[in-house]
Amino acid sequence: MSTDASLFRFPQDGTFQTLLERNRTWAQRLSALRPTLFPTLGAGQSPQVLWIGCSDSRVPATSILDLLPGEVFVHRNIANVLPPNDLSSLSVIQYAVEVLKIIIVCGHTACGGVNAALANQQLGLLDTWLKNIRDVRQAHLEELEAIEDPVARSTRLAELNVCAGVDSLLKNSNVQHAITERGLEVHGVLLDVGSGLLREVKTDSKIQGSVYKLK
Ligand SMILES: [Zn+2]
Repeated sequence: MSTDASLFRFPQDGTFQTLLERNRTWAQRLSALRPTLFPTLGAGQSPQVLWIGCSDSRVPATSILDLLPGEVFVHRNIANVLPPNDLSSLSVIQYAVEVLKIIIVCGHTACGGVNAALANQQLGLLDTWLKNIRDVRQAHLEELEAIEDPVARSTRLAELNVCAGVDSLLKNSNVQHAITERGLEVHGVLLDVGSGLLREVKTDSKIQGSVYKLK
């Protein structure tokens, strides 16, 4: 498949200086459109949404939601995994449960992390991280192996990984408390990188909170 290079704004011969120039042009353009935006952001942030997504370059949270700087608090890692002992994501989640309104866990089609977890090839350090997704694969092995099309199988594991992320959030007592006390919402979505469209992933979570809700 040929790629239309003119679609992309960072040229093949682009440099670090190109990036700085692009940044200046972007800031000037946005300031002209919304003169109060940067002065407001300079005084602080008040996002309402936490986005937990993959590091993949095709999954930029603020762009996908058509929002502006200051509107989305973002945590990204390879294949949007939420291990229960990951200090980085737990710190982000703590901020979210205290302040934000909506948490979104976003997986995506054609995810390299998910595809690696579907293969049994040794990848070194990455295998420690991918174990989280391999655990999801193991838990749904029969269903996944019954899917013959590798693309469909990958998409299904990406969905199941989103469900695992939502479940992980719902097992967090601080999240449970925020859901009950101030209506925090937790949603799972899947991005089709081939269309740019999100669709909701119904997680069918059986976690109602009684076991994980602490006083
Ligand atoms: Zn990915």
